[in-house]
Amino acid sequence: MADARDATSGQLVTDPSFPAVKTCTGPAHDEPTTLPLTPRYWHFVRSGRRTGLPLSRCKQCQNWEKLQRKDGPHGVTDATAVRAHAKELLERCGSYEHVRRQYAINDTTLGPIVRGDSPRVQLRTAQRILTALTEQRRLDRLSGQTSERFRRAQAARASHALQIDRYIERTS
Ligand SMILES: [Zn+2]
Repeated sequence: MADARDATSGQLVTDPSFPAVKTCTGPAHDEPTTLPLTPRYWHFVRSGRRTGLPLSRCKQCQNWEKLQRKDGPHGVTDATAVRAHAKELLERCGSYEHVRRQYAINDTTLGPIVRGDSPRVQLRTAQRILTALTEQRRLDRLSGQTSERFRRAQAARASHALQIDRYIERTS
């Protein structure tokens, strides 16, 4: 990657300790989400004229599409890729009990993924979590209401996004 440049605004980010950011509008996020422009979140083009540029969608969205594409998935996948979605599902539902009643996913299944206790997760389980999350996002949009647990987590994320915005303002 050449300069540390905000990929959305094109502004130069001069503090090397603070990562450049790029907004992803892919399916893993309920709304466009700004992520640090680092290999942890993005794949980068490795050859040709676009070498070093990030792909249009973040790793999480590429993984999401990969999981959704499979018909009746078999085997296991890396649990870290599913963890954020499992947490969002729990936050939106408000409790393990609600997740169990609404989507028939038990706390003994969801808990270890949310807490990061299990390194691997069954592909079938991962797909059920993604499907449940898509449905819960839709329900939340329809009702215009979200659980207290989700609102608290959202507020924390918004404050982080604000910090990024302020930083870009300060340095531009
Ligand atoms: Zn994404």
